Amino acid sequence: MPLMMKTFVSLVLLCAGAAQAQESADLIVSAAQVVTMDAKRRVIDNGAVAVRGGRILAVGPRAEIDKAYKAKQRIDQPEALIAPGLVNTHTHAAMSLLRGLADDKPLQEWLEKYIFPAEAKNVTPEFVRWGTRLAMLEMMLSGTTTYTDMYYFEDEVAQATKEAGMRGVLGQTIIGFPAPDYKTPQEALAATEKFIAKWKNDPLITPAVAPHAVYTNEEATLRAARELADKHGVPLLIHVSETQLENTSTHAKTGSSPTFYLSRIGGIAKRTVFAHGVWMGVRDRQTARQFNVGVAHCPSSNMKMASGVLPVLEFLRFGIPVGLGPDGPAGSNNDFNMFEEMDLAAKLAKSMNFDPQALPAATVVEMATIMGARVLGMEEQIGSLEAGKRADLITVSLAEPHAFPRHDPYSMLVYSLKGSDVRDVVIEGRVTVRDRKPLTLNRAEILAKAAELRAKVDASLREGKP
Ligand SMILES: [Zn+2]
Repeated sequence: MPLMMKTFVSLVLLCAGAAQAQESADLIVSAAQVVTMDAKRRVIDNGAVAVRGGRILAVGPRAEIDKAYKAKQRIDQPEALIAPGLVNTHTHAAMSLLRGLADDKPLQEWLEKYIFPAEAKNVTPEFVRWGTRLAMLEMMLSGTTTYTDMYYFEDEVAQATKEAGMRGVLGQTIIGFPAPDYKTPQEALAATEKFIAKWKNDPLITPAVAPHAVYTNEEATLRAARELADKHGVPLLIHVSETQLENTSTHAKTGSSPTFYLSRIGGIAKRTVFAHGVWMGVRDRQTARQFNVGVAHCPSSNMKMASGVLPVLEFLRFGIPVGLGPDGPAGSNNDFNMFEEMDLAAKLAKSMNFDPQALPAATVVEMATIMGARVLGMEEQIGSLEAGKRADLITVSLAEPHAFPRHDPYSMLVYSLKGSDVRDVVIEGRVTVRDRKPLTLNRAEILAKAAELRAKVDASLREGKP
């Protein structure tokens, strides 16, 4: 056989072989563009992601993926883009049931006069279960696949989260006064250890220790919380330097800033997330870098509560990972929309620095995905679309007028696309939202229950009042 002919025959055989050797996948998702957030920050036109067993098998041009894999299920969205699922690094999910309870109040008054009393009267396992479901419904429908929670009855949160197929870093709150679930910090610490043991190896749930803040806990509690987190290698979540008042009062009481105080008493664990950090100074940032702390930036909350503005650029310059969080919806936001947090984070940094180049859209998308994953110590598992990682992804419609004409996908995600453009959500390889229809949460039932529980909250707050 002539050489040319030989080559042709072997090529045909090779192609036939390739067709036969098509690997099986559970799911293929294809779209106009895939924003991978991988190390090279590849954006693939006409791309697809193949998924099997909860993990990503391959990411590439659709033609290549379709040739290599045969899927049991397909989602084809030619007028959408695929992005990694968004990572919320700070929230209080069940506070969804207290949404708008006391708006436009100073933080301390809001907490002490409204939130703590409302929680003391109303927060039960049932409240937490339904509040978490309501929050997850909203989070998934606006593209969040992983959320970081600090609340009470965290085992209820974990069960509801697992049922809904969502990924959660869930912190049991430890606080220095009788809480709805545990009456003392010692009880809360003991319960947290059981909670960690129960959920430690779950593919979706990462249990965490959540001492509320420096100003609500004793030194011994903060130290014990850190020991517990490090003993089990789980994250420690804590509010730090949210307001100027917190800094001045901590300074008056301890002689140090909250960050320096925590470092001095042994209160910073190997995986620690500081929520807010607005009033952290240069020395605090050095300490945070030294202790490998991640920061959850909550622009909506900080703006609404007039807490101040986090100097994000200073943190990034120090190499401190910064993620985004909507905080709680009870008065400090009032929703769970990460698209809004992206938009505000970018604009706030520009305003503060009088520089339109500050915090460009691509960096903000990093904060909402791969850098957020780094804040949680989970960058090996989530935050980007790469073979071997957990299959957490979203499709976002490009069909609405605000998506025309199209330019840079990062700029689209941050400045023009909305949470309501999210079409499909895949978490751990499972489709949890399909064409905006939640598949793992009962929307009608959750909304009815939310209205019922909110009526109870309002009635409880009227009790004893003239
Ligand atoms: Zn918070």
